[in-house]
Amino acid sequence: MKSVTLKKNQDKRVLAGHPWVFSNEIGDVSEALELGEEVAVQSYQKRLIGRGFYHPRSLIAVRLMTRNDEPIDKRLWVERLRRAWSFRRRIYPQHECYRVIFGESDGISGLVVDKYGSLLVVQVFSAGIERRKQMVLDALIEVFNPRCVIARNDFVAREQEGLPQSKELWFGEMPEAQWIEQDAIRFWVDSWNGQKTGFFFDQRDNRVALQQYVTNQRVLDCFSYSGGFALYSAAGAARSVLAVDASSEALKGAEVNFKENRCQRICSLCQADIFEFLKQTRDRYDVVVLDPPALVKRKISLKEGLRGYQNLNQRALARVEPGGILATCCCSYHVTEEDFRAQLVEAARRAGREIQLLESRTQARDHPILLAVRETSYLKCLLLRVL
Ligand code: SAH
Repeated sequence: MKSVTLKKNQDKRVLAGHPWVFSNEIGDVSEALELGEEVAVQSYQKRLIGRGFYHPRSLIAVRLMTRNDEPIDKRLWVERLRRAWSFRRRIYPQHECYRVIFGESDGISGLVVDKYGSLLVVQVFSAGIERRKQMVLDALIEVFNPRCVIARNDFVAREQEGLPQSKELWFGEMPEAQWIEQDAIRFWVDSWNGQKTGFFFDQRDNRVALQQYVTNQRVLDCFSYSGGFALYSAAGAARSVLAVDASSEALKGAEVNFKENRCQRICSLCQADIFEFLKQTRDRYDVVVLDPPALVKRKISLKEGLRGYQNLNQRALARVEPGGILATCCCSYHVTEEDFRAQLVEAARRAGREIQLLESRTQARDHPILLAVRETSYLKCLLLRVL
């Protein structure tokens, strides 16, 4: 087996449970290694650390797949998939739709799989996985017996591994849009054309948490997409809900969902840029939800992105009735919770409001966070009382 040897004292993070080896941590490469090739990683003292996939040009040079001296074969994939699925069934019994593989957190660096009943939607982040597409697919078929598997590999992060953007049918027939159910609420999901894999599972537990505060309240759901927070609010007996999004496609989905769940009398829609909408409107709401797309996509634009969050939150705070709730989210991995809170303090100062933290929340449990791998933690969702 070909191997890479780490430089002196460069094994701490990896030994503490992180599966990435950065290119600058490698001292020696035994033989020429190909893109995505399986490789053994050893410490400076030549102790085996594990096995993984190599990338000659990425910042992440090796993604470890195992800490044992074992082949990375179908048996290993199947075992990882089974373990991940069994956990999801435990936390969401009677449900068939969730993120079933969340990359590093499930021991498969570079692979994400969202399960929509018998449809699996895959996202591949690494060249090592891309190269083993067939083995991954075989394992998925063996474990899940799906009707259909598609790959939504049309996202920019693939560039970091030199991978092209694509959408592919991997197995079965082209899927049609379908109804899924979450906590007795029905959503129309189009995994081929929708944003990301068609639905945002990561906010599920936060949508449930918000329900504690919405009964008989007027709710504004900003960046609504297919109406996730809006529909949970309606189910939580909100008095009225206004869902706002810039995308007409997203709002079409929300409208279909409002009808299907018989809450079109409570829920209404508005197509607008949220920044403009919040600036123009004079209305106030008892509960405001802010769930923007990542405003910081690269570390280099952190400052600018934080100003974006501050601006947005300042405008949203001005629209909250005194004593009301702001549920404010940030899915930018580069923004720490500390940064996010600091920007909120400034937003509140500028808006002349006082904010109390009721709950500091994160991504849903089907996106588990590995404490040794901070990259697995990206979503912040703070529930604030606004005075
Ligand atoms: N809250 C949603 C997920 C939001 S995804 C849920 O619970 O499922 C982010 C959404 O923001 C997308 O639907 C996108 O169309 C919308 N969006 C992005 N920029 C926007 C802007 N400037 N104004 C309004 N909507 C925007």
